[in-house]
Amino acid sequence: MLNLIIFGPPGAGKGTQSEKLLSKYQLQHISTGDLLRAERNAGSELGNQANEYIAKGELVPDAVVIGMVKNFMLSHPEANGFIFDGFPRTTPQADALDVMLADFNTGISIVLGLEVNEDELVKRLLLRGQNSGRADDQDESTIRNRFQEYQNKTLPLQGHYQGQGKYHGVMGIGEVEAIFESLCAHIDAL
Ligand code: AMP
Repeated sequence: MLNLIIFGPPGAGKGTQSEKLLSKYQLQHISTGDLLRAERNAGSELGNQANEYIAKGELVPDAVVIGMVKNFMLSHPEANGFIFDGFPRTTPQADALDVMLADFNTGISIVLGLEVNEDELVKRLLLRGQNSGRADDQDESTIRNRFQEYQNKTLPLQGHYQGQGKYHGVMGIGEVEAIFESLCAHIDAL
């Protein structure tokens, strides 16, 4: 199985690149942000609870997100592999992912980090907010909170995966296609 984590701050292009990668490598896409928004739109209790965190730009509790990822993986036993997009975002999530993948007799193949500076990210998110209607992309203080959460809770995972020799950073500014090729080069070198 090819299991890859697409890593990076909000607005780095994880969703865009995931779409391209999953069609090239025939993988299942797990975007915890998309799964949470689908729950919210369906009006489920989980979705309503999660929305309180999303609206403030805070991370949803680990147990909720881990449970969702586990259900998704169990419902795709035929998968060739998974792209984890926006997950894991905390150390407990990374530990839980290792356990879940071990249950599939597999593990993380590679972690690809999209590296983009904060000014560019704010610009992109505000633009996305105009087009997508996502409330958490429209308010600059919510966006700043999301960066704070990223710095405090998610960025330490970069060192965690560097320590395992799995992290590869790619400059996330430029043509979508050129960034995609850099990502593929790392995957194809495995
Ligand atoms: P995203 O679409 O990945 O930018 O996620 C939007 C929001 O959903 C985040 O700001 C969090 O509130 C929540 N979220 C998404 N993924 C996670 C995760 N792995 N852990 C905790 N909260 C998450």
